[in-house]
Amino acid sequence: MVETPSFDWSDMSNEELKSLSDSACAMITEASGVAERLARDLASVGSVSKDDKSPVTVADFAVQAIVGLRLRDCCVTDMVGEEDASRLRTDEHLLAQVHEAVRSVIPDADADDILEAIDSGNHEGGSTGRFWTLDPIDGTKGFLRGGQFALALALISDGVVEMGVLGLSHWGMHLDPSGATVRPPGSICLATRGGGAHGWSIDQPEQVSRLQVADWSSDSILRTCESVESGHSSHDASARIVEIFSGHEAVRLDSQTKYAVVASGAADAYLRLPTRPGYVERIWDHAAGALVASESGAIVSDIHGRELDFSHGCGLEKNRGVICAVPAAHERIIDRISETGLS
Ligand code: AMP
Ligand code: MG
Repeated sequence: MVETPSFDWSDMSNEELKSLSDSACAMITEASGVAERLARDLASVGSVSKDDKSPVTVADFAVQAIVGLRLRDCCVTDMVGEEDASRLRTDEHLLAQVHEAVRSVIPDADADDILEAIDSGNHEGGSTGRFWTLDPIDGTKGFLRGGQFALALALISDGVVEMGVLGLSHWGMHLDPSGATVRPPGSICLATRGGGAHGWSIDQPEQVSRLQVADWSSDSILRTCESVESGHSSHDASARIVEIFSGHEAVRLDSQTKYAVVASGAADAYLRLPTRPGYVERIWDHAAGALVASESGAIVSDIHGRELDFSHGCGLEKNRGVICAVPAAHERIIDRISETGLS
């Protein structure tokens, strides 16, 4: 198993949550290593299109399999995962590639174990009970472009996110948020509700830093981040929103890395503005990142200022888009959204 951080848990009273956090960090660190190795060899990484035309790769399946297999030893095993194994059951070549990737860390896993572990992510979520939600490779388009991606695992209890872990292979704490200068193995962020958010480099787990948002005031430049994909967040709408600020700098990044960028103070706001009517954000795209950001001092809401509600199955059915920002900027952004009539 991978090394876990020498972490000061003294402010965490709940022993069970501490043990689940340790397990979650170990799984995500281990699976990040596998994803990173695949990212370095993109030419041979199999990728196929899902029914909604979005891509899924060997890495998405391998990470969900590794987490599913490791969760068998945990006291909470229910998982709402982004992927299912149906495609692998009809594509022997893809299954063989996934099997090889999983075996690099779990040598005795056979093909049936892998299919079953991926399909263990079929929990429906909801407002009662405790379950995990996993985005095995968040930002798959970024992964395939050689850009940012994140492994995101969160624990939800009675509809409330209790813990979130992000594995950020291409991003290092306090570094240029574009990630251009970051070398593997990247970093891990962990947040527990009420316990703050912490981050460390995967190769230096003994050097843990507490994450804290930037100290922003209304006469400062607003540094925002948004999706690379204009189909995931409207770039035109964000340009209209930032007009009211004293100055503006923007960076485009794939995945929940954007939440970590705000959490670490490298940006002041993450804007996710709806591109089409009817799109419902998925819980695995936000649960871990939103907790990392809010435990670092950010306010996370939808575009109308409503708290994100994780109690309605796989989707954030009661929300529209996401605004994650330092408190003073959050208020101004929500007011501006209402002025511009964005809905
Ligand atoms: P990002 O890397 O921030 O662009 O977000 C990637 C995530 O966007 C994927 O995991 C998808 O689940 C999600 N996604 C797909 N279509 C949309 C859409 N129309 N609006 C918002 N998010 C979307
Ligand atoms: Mg995703």
